[in-house]
Amino acid sequence: MRLLLVEDDALLRAQLGSALQAAGYAVDTADNGRDAEHLGQTEPYDAIVLDLGLPVLDGLTVLQRWRAAAVATPVLILTARDSWHDKVAGIDAGADDYLAKPFHTEELLARLRALIRRAQGMASPLLSCGPVTLDTRTGRASVAGMALPLTAHEYRLLAYLMHRPGQVVSRTEINEHLYAQDADRDSNTIEVFVARLRRKLPAGMIETVRGLGYRLAAPA
Ligand code: CA
Repeated sequence: MRLLLVEDDALLRAQLGSALQAAGYAVDTADNGRDAEHLGQTEPYDAIVLDLGLPVLDGLTVLQRWRAAAVATPVLILTARDSWHDKVAGIDAGADDYLAKPFHTEELLARLRALIRRAQGMASPLLSCGPVTLDTRTGRASVAGMALPLTAHEYRLLAYLMHRPGQVVSRTEINEHLYAQDADRDSNTIEVFVARLRRKLPAGMIETVRGLGYRLAAPA
C-alpha cells in the first residue's frame, strides 16, 4: 500500500514517515499544499494523511480541490488540538477521518488500516482467502493456521492482493501501489516477487491472467 503524507513540520514528517515505512507502507511526502494537490491528483495512493495547516495552500482547500476533481482516495486529516471547527470543516470537505495533534502513532496506523480496508469493502482487520489469513494489525500471514514467513516485499504484495481477492491486478498497478515515487521501479522485479510469493502459497492461488496481470483466488 502506498501513502501520501502531507505535513510541513519537518520533524513530524520524518517521524511519521519512518513509522509508516516501518509499518510496511510505501510513502511519498509533501511539505506544502501545492505539491500535495498535484501528487494527490496524479498518483494512485491507497490513503492520504493531510495536515490542515500548510504553507502555500491550506489543507482544507487541497482536500476540496481533490474531491472536486473526483479524487476518491481515503483522506485522514490532522487537526490542531481542540479545534472542533477544523474537524467539522474537514469532514464536510470530504475527509474520511481525523486525528487531533498530538496523537499516538499507533492510533494513526490503526485508523489508516481501517480506512484502507473500508475503501475495499472489508470490515475486519483479519483478511482471508481460502486457507490464507493475513492480520493487518500484526503484519503476520498464515496458511491453515501455520505461520507463513514473508519478507517485507512479499508481505506488501500479499496484502495488496488480499485486499482485492478475485480481482485482476496489473503489474503496473502493483508497481504503483508498492513503491514510493522515488523508488527504482521495475516490472521485472514484480514478476520475481510474484514468483517467490507463489511458491510460498498453496498451489494455484496466484493466477496469471495473460496480458492483464494477476489474480488471487482461493484454491478450488
Ligand atoms: Ca502544519
